[in-house]
Amino acid sequence: MLERHRYCPDHSRMTYTSEANAVLARRDLQHIWHPCTQMHDHERVPMVPIVRGEGPWLIDADGRRYLDGISSWWTNLFGHANPRIAAALADQAKTLEHVIFAGFTHPPAIELAERLVQITPAGLEKVFFADNGSAAIEVALKMSFHYWLNQGHGEKTRFIALTGSYHGETLGALSVSDVALYRKTYAPLLLTPILAPSPDTYEGEPSESAEQTAARRLEEMRALLERHAHETCAVIVEPLVQCAGGMRMYHPSYLSGLRQLCDRYNVHFIADEIAVGFGRTGTMFACEQAHVAPDFMCLSKGLTGGTLPLSAVLTTQRVYDAFYAEYSAGKAFLHSHSYTGNPLACRAALETLAIFRDEPVLERNRALSAHLASRLAPLRDHPHVADVRQQGMIAAVELVADKATRRPFLADERRGLRVFLHGLKRGALLRPLGNIVYFMPPYVVSESDIDHLVDVAIEGIAHATKP
Ligand SMILES: *Cc1c(COP(=O)(O)O)cnc(C)c1O
Repeated sequence: MLERHRYCPDHSRMTYTSEANAVLARRDLQHIWHPCTQMHDHERVPMVPIVRGEGPWLIDADGRRYLDGISSWWTNLFGHANPRIAAALADQAKTLEHVIFAGFTHPPAIELAERLVQITPAGLEKVFFADNGSAAIEVALKMSFHYWLNQGHGEKTRFIALTGSYHGETLGALSVSDVALYRKTYAPLLLTPILAPSPDTYEGEPSESAEQTAARRLEEMRALLERHAHETCAVIVEPLVQCAGGMRMYHPSYLSGLRQLCDRYNVHFIADEIAVGFGRTGTMFACEQAHVAPDFMCLSKGLTGGTLPLSAVLTTQRVYDAFYAEYSAGKAFLHSHSYTGNPLACRAALETLAIFRDEPVLERNRALSAHLASRLAPLRDHPHVADVRQQGMIAAVELVADKATRRPFLADERRGLRVFLHGLKRGALLRPLGNIVYFMPPYVVSESDIDHLVDVAIEGIAHATKP
């Protein structure tokens, strides 16, 4: 009883049905410091111990089931404990779990690099592995800078990023991010990027189409490049959807225009497809919708189907060649991570790509995303919903205090947290970004799973928008 008191003082919000969750939660809080969490919140918000996963469902220690509406931080594609990926991993674990990746190689990494080059836009020929998304961004930033240095352009030291962008939390990746919640505190430690206004359609003029907003923002980007290209290594963007910045979406013409500008002004184009890659936006890669190939493409999250950390930076032969010289020339890219190219992670990625090859994933997703769109449509009339937007298997509902002026709710009111808590009670994992309720489910959900997620979200929104 004491335990329950400690973690859930408000009994009406109580989610524990027996003691197993409470015992694990207590042990957890004794020693674990969780990511992206004010730990004090857990005096009020339950810690949910998950002991098993099954397709899109997560199951806690008391046997309660939660539909994973956010793919466990956007990683999971084909369900938890996916039998195909699990079997491949078991086989690989008995064969080769890891080997140093400098001077040594192994079949899963070779095959994965071949497959990634085949499926990504033409021109991306070389693959550098790292072990998480932020690390991939660090690699791309360093490689871009180093490319220009090797070409005799050491004066290029800056990066252009979009407002509202998110590229990870290590110092370099955070430097090119513009989500104040994560960045502000550490600003004194960071590089200063040049910020270009995001083509985000939600922030566009009411009279403009998405394409017109993109065109206007491209012109602003052009002006920035005109002024700063000489000192700029690269422009980095999240293609089509700025995810952590609030699932803000923009028109693909921005990407094709940006490709032309980068060529014209001699700066690299870094596409951070860590969240949007592997079918999320409806095409295998978001860049495909603009028919562009970046100079660097960063992949992670869905790469292993959500089973193991792994990332890859794909780049061009031209970039690779700028580092290729006699050792004494000092041009090599000496960046490394202990777990670079981990064979288990590569095997999980290969099996994930095999599922894409064997099953009509993108086609099925089209039907699922159409169903999601039709279920979300009525929310447009909700008095506290300013926008319902969707791009493939990502949908978002923007909650506001005032619909007419789009005045946001105060962050301190934590309306999104109420949606989250309601979801837990009703068997759905929805974890809004501030006041933005979003859906990014694994591709193995059924239409009735989507119905469940949306029903719970609609109830949660009604509850959260009460005065
Ligand atoms: C999640 C994310 C990252 C960082 O990846 P981590 O594996 O969490 O370090 C970078 N860029 C984008 C667009 C992301 O969504």
